[in-house]
Amino acid sequence: MAIFSKDKFTCARCGQKNEPIGFAPLPTDLGQKIGAECCKNCWSEWLEKQKQIINHFGLDLSNPDSHDYLFDQMKLFFYDDGTNLAAIDETKEGTIEW
Ligand SMILES: [Zn+2]
Repeated sequence: MAIFSKDKFTCARCGQKNEPIGFAPLPTDLGQKIGAECCKNCWSEWLEKQKQIINHFGLDLSNPDSHDYLFDQMKLFFYDDGTNLAAIDETKEGTIEW
């Protein structure tokens, strides 16, 4: 179990001194890691991004595959430079078929 602190720290993602998320947003190792190492701002940024991804790809969240896909994207978002994230072309909103 990661130990969560509320003290300001340097975020592993954006490198800013900020408040940590302070809890595991997911009940997984990745969730623990993100909760301990990333800041609240990055988490709200991800929530926005997640919404876009869900809408863009029409993800059905009752389907476990959708969750796996989102977790992969989340990992890329927090621990990659973002270049491998799903490209969201706003002009094709709703026209992508799986
Ligand atoms: Zn951050």
